[in-house]
Amino acid sequence: MSFKIRLTLILSTVVMIFQTLTVIVNDYAMRVNLKREVQELMHNISASVSEHAARKMRPAGGTDEDSPGLDPAALIQEFQSLHRNIMEIAVFRPAEEGGAGSSSAQEAGNAASQELTGRLLYGSYDIHASGTDSADLAEAMRSGEVYRSLRSGGKTLLAGTFGFPESGLAVRIAADLSPMYGMIRETRNYQISLSVLLLPAAVAINYGLAYVLIRPLRQILGKVDEVASGRFDTPLAVNRKDETGQLAERINAMAKNLDVYTAKLKKAFEENRSMKEHLESIIHHTTDAIHIEDVNGVLIRVNPAFEQMFGWSEEEAIGRNLPIVPESGMKEELEAREALLAGQMLPARETIRRRKDGSCFEVSVTTSAIRDRNGVIQAFASITRDMTNRNKMDELLRRAEKLNTVGQLAAGVAHEIRNPLTTLRGFLQLQQQTNKLNQRHIDIMLSELDRINLIVSEFLILAKPQATKFRIQDVRFILGDVISLLDSQAHLCNIVFTTSFDSEPCEVACEENHLKQVFINVLKNAIEAMPKGGEIEIDARKQPGWIVITIRDHGVGIPEDMIPKLGDPFVTSKESGTGLGIMISQRIIQSHQGTMEIRSTVGKGTTVTINLPAVE
Ligand code: ADP
Ligand code: MG
Repeated sequence: MSFKIRLTLILSTVVMIFQTLTVIVNDYAMRVNLKREVQELMHNISASVSEHAARKMRPAGGTDEDSPGLDPAALIQEFQSLHRNIMEIAVFRPAEEGGAGSSSAQEAGNAASQELTGRLLYGSYDIHASGTDSADLAEAMRSGEVYRSLRSGGKTLLAGTFGFPESGLAVRIAADLSPMYGMIRETRNYQISLSVLLLPAAVAINYGLAYVLIRPLRQILGKVDEVASGRFDTPLAVNRKDETGQLAERINAMAKNLDVYTAKLKKAFEENRSMKEHLESIIHHTTDAIHIEDVNGVLIRVNPAFEQMFGWSEEEAIGRNLPIVPESGMKEELEAREALLAGQMLPARETIRRRKDGSCFEVSVTTSAIRDRNGVIQAFASITRDMTNRNKMDELLRRAEKLNTVGQLAAGVAHEIRNPLTTLRGFLQLQQQTNKLNQRHIDIMLSELDRINLIVSEFLILAKPQATKFRIQDVRFILGDVISLLDSQAHLCNIVFTTSFDSEPCEVACEENHLKQVFINVLKNAIEAMPKGGEIEIDARKQPGWIVITIRDHGVGIPEDMIPKLGDPFVTSKESGTGLGIMISQRIIQSHQGTMEIRSTVGKGTTVTINLPAVE
């Protein structure tokens, strides 16, 4: 049922109830009014009749000023002819209560013996209520007047009993209310039929009213429908200030907001979609293997590069715990997981992975945690880069630079060895001649031999290819070795090394020979930057978490535009330079999870700062 019809029905029902109530109240009010009027009439009649009856009964020769009273019987008749509904009027002298003297009183009326005790003086008393009349009379003598409704011969009557104690008289009047009631009934019926006749008109008016009331609601409903189907453009016309006007205003505001938000949402969705496509494309086309696994190591997602690199197809991989980490790397892997679960961020790790066919290969792995919106880790995403080729390349470059360094060093070394050798030869010749062993000479010879031994062994370490093995070493000792190795060459160039080392151990996890190569490269650059000689300061300090090594020269410096290029291969300003030294040094420092920074001012000098993670 539509709201309009419902509203019409409600309005019509309200009108009908109102109409019915009006009829009932009207009817009741008219009856009450009628009764009151009749009672007043009775009261007046009784007063007048009793007064005249009393005057009549007064003994002759009363007060002169009394006008002779009218005949009560005639008066009664006159009243009855004047008021057709007054059926009878009776004037009594009530019997004395318990008084035997008045027992001789004439019986009032033929059938009234049980009803009223007393003498009927005037009028008639034919209509009586069974059982109550004498009580009413007694009551009227006490309190003045008593009314009682009766039904007699199909008529509705009202009987009034009035007592006048000062004259000892009582008046009883019976009036017929039926004709008046009939009129009231007629009026009521007339009203009802008029209501019934007007009902269709009322319904029609209500329908129109409902239509007018609902029209703005219908417009709003239409707008809401539009909004629901995603059209926000046409606002509702607001031409009222009432609730529907306010509603329309709010709906307009809501539609506007919705429009803005929908546009924003659409934009965000589009951005999301294109971002997703972007990411998908990157994931699909990168040569790095990407895989996502849950916290139990079960694979959730892999990309094509993963399939290629590891030899497992996507179907084989998803939902499984693949043995891509060899036993040797297991411990490190578990430690990495724990660190991630503890909320740490991990740098790229150089490690080993296993293919489906069991072969192992060198990789660089970056693993990061994927968290849900509450920050709880749900999965791990790993990017694996095959480092076999890069490492090979690095190794080749390192070797090339090393050969170069070795070649250059050879001259210095040869020079350095020739000096002690000359000393040794001199002493040996001396002994050959004297045939005596001088203890002091032997000490000098032994120390010269030690020096030769040190230089040659350092030289050999550098020249020999070594297996990469990280050990915990004190940087101060490594620097000391390198300084001894380069001392002779520095000497040739008039250069002095000044060292300032921390008194505490400066231990780092490192590949000793690689670190030596870094220090040699940096020191060689410093030496080469000071053709006129001078001082090179070498510092090693322990700081919280880090060992900081500073190598400062006072040489020619590096032009500003060249500094960012350092670290690219073959960037050199020297005729016989390779431009590989800094690049290799940086690689080595990176593989030690450290950093290397070069600051320089042309004409003033260069400072190279190397930070390496300290071992506690
Ligand atoms: P090479 O020494 O073979 O030229 P490097 O990679 O060791 O290659 O150095 C690259 C360049 O950086 C050098 O050619 C030089 O111009 C500059 N450089 C490096 N260290 C210093 C330094 N301490 N003082 C001045 N210039 C330097
Ligand atoms: Mg160099």
